[in-house]
Amino acid sequence: MEKTLSIIKPDAVANNVIGKIIDRFESNGLRVAAMRKIQLTKKDAAKFYEVHKERPFFNDLVEYMTSGPVVVMVLEGENAVLKNRELMGATDPKKAAPGTIRADFAESIEANAVHGSDSLENAQKEIRFFFAEREIL
Ligand code: ADP
Ligand code: MG
Repeated sequence: MEKTLSIIKPDAVANNVIGKIIDRFESNGLRVAAMRKIQLTKKDAAKFYEVHKERPFFNDLVEYMTSGPVVVMVLEGENAVLKNRELMGATDPKKAAPGTIRADFAESIEANAVHGSDSLENAQKEIRFFFAEREIL
């Protein structure tokens, strides 16, 4: 069993599709082990996306991720990290495979509905960023 971090981003929360996105996870063998709706501060978002701080889109990304509430979740299941990435689809919704979350719900390469950890190591780091051990059930 693996755990990964998922975030339903501000565009998808504003579009009222939290439930539809969680259904994709639950219908494909992932279980919600922890969940919270929060408003990220600029400091939170900048720290969370620290690896991208030299990228040209970094400031816009921090603005976007703080533009409204998000839902942070720990997903658990077999090969959860890769499974979640497959269900999400490519970063750019125009390139995302049909039937993926981003193909169906994302608005743009930036406002792309969901975040998912890209490796087991980053999943552990990102889960620790948002959740205490006692909140993961
Ligand atoms: P992913 O979320 O698929 O792992 P990245 O880690 O490369 O993608 O990028 C993190 C986030 O930064 C993306 O999900 C998206 O919101 C934003 N982003 C990535 N590339 C661009 C870009 N070229 N222009 C604007 N925003 C981008
Ligand atoms: Mg990434």
